[in-house]
Amino acid sequence: MKNSIEKRFWSKVKTGRLDDCWLWKGAKTSNGYGSIHVERHAVRAHRLAFELTFGAIPVGSFVCHSCDVRLCCNPLHIFLGSAKDNTRDMVAKGRSLRGRMMEKRRGERNPRAKLNQIQVEKMRARFAKGGITKTELARRYGISESQVRGIINQKNWKVIPAIWWPGRALALARLRKRLHQVFPGVK
Ligand SMILES: [Zn+2]
Repeated sequence: MKNSIEKRFWSKVKTGRLDDCWLWKGAKTSNGYGSIHVERHAVRAHRLAFELTFGAIPVGSFVCHSCDVRLCCNPLHIFLGSAKDNTRDMVAKGRSLRGRMMEKRRGERNPRAKLNQIQVEKMRARFAKGGITKTELARRYGISESQVRGIINQKNWKVIPAIWWPGRALALARLRKRLHQVFPGVK
């Protein structure tokens, strides 16, 4: 039963590399999320992507996108957060009016509003490789040096654990294996 849901689900997702956003090709909700019917219930596609990959979503948890792409079903771009995370995330990304006002007042934009998680991960990986200064990274990404420091030290990104949570390697391996089973085309 679950296997057939998985097959049906992943056949409606344009999968790609693990870094890419995997866009939903099926039905959409009026506010731009993917939607699929499971046992006659309409379920949001990104929530199902999370459940099929990592297991049940605890009651009261919000399922958020680190990439800010509502149609994205890449399980690695989806993380669990509290209502507070969800609001904080929205504010940080400037989607809410209050967020936009706060951003205007602050003068300096929140780095989270400028960089997506993939860029952050790439920046960290690049820095870890060595041979590049934080000043140079700041110049390349168009943010301040203190923001680069915060990102490298992971201070500014604590509310978005989707890329750097402790079990990431395990989850990645599990995700690859499962996707190969239900959807052999995935690289
Ligand atoms: Zn994405």
